[in-house]
Amino acid sequence: MVAKAFDMIVIGAGPGGYVAAIRGAQLGLTVAVVEREHLGGICLNWGCIPTKALLRSAEVFHLMHRAKEFGLKADGIGYDLGAVVQRSRGVAKQLSGGVGHLLKKNKVTVVMGTATLAGDRIETKGIREVFGAHAARLAVSSTKSMHGHLMGATGAVEFIASILALQRGVLPPTAHLRVPDPECDLDYVPNVARSGVALEAVMSNSFAFGGSNAVLVARRA
Ligand SMILES: Cc1cc2nc3c(=O)[nH]c(=O)nc-3n(C[C@H](O)[C@H](O)[C@H](O)COP(=O)(O)OP(=O)(O)OC[C@H]3O[C@@H](n4cnc5c(N)ncnc54)[C@H](O)[C@@H]3O)c2cc1C
Repeated sequence: MVAKAFDMIVIGAGPGGYVAAIRGAQLGLTVAVVEREHLGGICLNWGCIPTKALLRSAEVFHLMHRAKEFGLKADGIGYDLGAVVQRSRGVAKQLSGGVGHLLKKNKVTVVMGTATLAGDRIETKGIREVFGAHAARLAVSSTKSMHGHLMGATGAVEFIASILALQRGVLPPTAHLRVPDPECDLDYVPNVARSGVALEAVMSNSFAFGGSNAVLVARRA
């Protein structure tokens, strides 16, 4: 989550996304782009650019064999595959960095992370289905707003935060929650931790992009 509202948020900084984001900013909108991996997307990092860099090495290699035709001498022609790949990665890195520079120049805010539109809504709906009317009395903190999306077993960190909340009676906040999604209507403990809360039980939901979900519940002995 980010600390301000934007006119336009683009998900993915591939050629489609970063160009749209820059155009939006040029038209006077406040724009953010969310990217989960590398600026420039498939094209700049794995597809168009690095493959063309590899092709260029192949082309030069081919030309070296034709040196004589051009009145040139080239002895001991060979290749170092590692160096060829390294050059390709270097070109990709340079262009991906160039996208970062372009976004900055056009005052587009870059947020590195995975954007999800449906996740919070579905979790809210799930909580409502499970707890019914009691959902209105629950506090739902998203610590992900502070430590990012935890992967695999690191989801245990969220459970540790839940246990600490139970022990200390302090609810961690959902940081940067300024503009709530109208479909997310629970008490998300926005922005400020809440202390002095008598908790009976806690539940930690970890929902993975790959579909491996874990829900852990703990209560006072
Ligand atoms: C080997 C190869 C060679 C190619 N060569 C050429 C070529 O020579 N010329 C050409 O025109 N095209 C080429 N292409 C095609 C080109 O790469 C694609 O058309 C182009 O990358 C599509 O751009 P895009 O922005 O739509 O998507 P992508 O480049 O796929 O970018 C999408 C971005 O969104 C991010 N993203 C996705 N979901 C989320 C989320 N939930 N939250 C945050 N970020 C997210 C991804 O990490 C990614 O960075 C090639 C492709 C390959 C694989």
